[in-house]
Amino acid sequence: MPKLTLQFHGTRGGVPVCDLNYLEFGGNTTCISMYNHERERIGILDAGTGIRALGKHLCKNYPDQRDIFITFTHFHWDHIQGFPFFEPAYDSEMEIHILTLGVKRKFTGLHDIFAAQMQEVYFPVALDNMGCKFNFLEYNDITALFQGGTISSIPQNHPGGSFGYRLETEDFRLVICTDVEHGDEIDEEFIEFCKGADLLIHDAQFTSEELQNRRGWGHSSYDQALEIAERAEVSQLIMTHHDPDHDDAFLRTAEKNCQDRFKDCALAREGMKIEM
Ligand SMILES: [Zn+2]
Ligand SMILES: [Zn+2]
Repeated sequence: MPKLTLQFHGTRGGVPVCDLNYLEFGGNTTCISMYNHERERIGILDAGTGIRALGKHLCKNYPDQRDIFITFTHFHWDHIQGFPFFEPAYDSEMEIHILTLGVKRKFTGLHDIFAAQMQEVYFPVALDNMGCKFNFLEYNDITALFQGGTISSIPQNHPGGSFGYRLETEDFRLVICTDVEHGDEIDEEFIEFCKGADLLIHDAQFTSEELQNRRGWGHSSYDQALEIAERAEVSQLIMTHHDPDHDDAFLRTAEKNCQDRFKDCALAREGMKIEM
């Protein structure tokens, strides 16, 4: 019986793409859901456009779900753009906890970040009129305990800052690091953070060649993600945050090349489920 089911609802970085050549890997921006077998609690990482369909699915199939946690890696558009379209937030019986975790945070005022996004000039419904009860939780510590395990974070090099997360329980070690740019060498501290993960989900927006001209954009290459998986001795690697210019054919070739180097790896596809 799986302890945790993880699902990708958006795998694209930057901007959503709607195109016939993007159906396999998907066009929605970053959103991942996680739930345990009993479905006592659903956790969501980031609210890119993929969160819209997830919200509809939750309302239809799990009407008794009364609280939802959404954790954010950071607040760039591609990670918050679906938030105003998250149907559970319009339910007055719902309680939604919005969370960030980590030292040296550059983010302040979680409420204001979302309220700003939903000002009348941008969107017809104000944050405080959506209907649900929001709890905005900002932890300065890099580690928090939850029932059955720990969650820790690492500050990442990304314009404006972002965080990687590690979820560890008796049964599994899951690390998610998207929107991260490495230097010429990968920091040992970063390798340590990913060490021994059963599953590492890592940014891989560019090829190594593309990365040469994209320094400062805040992202990684396939080769860097593979190097981290190898050095940190992770069991499985899933790469995500696909560039909006990379269509299905491009990504299929990239995936094949990556698998030639690291067997248990794949590129994330929208809808892909992983049971841990
Ligand atoms: Zn992003
Ligand atoms: Zn970003």
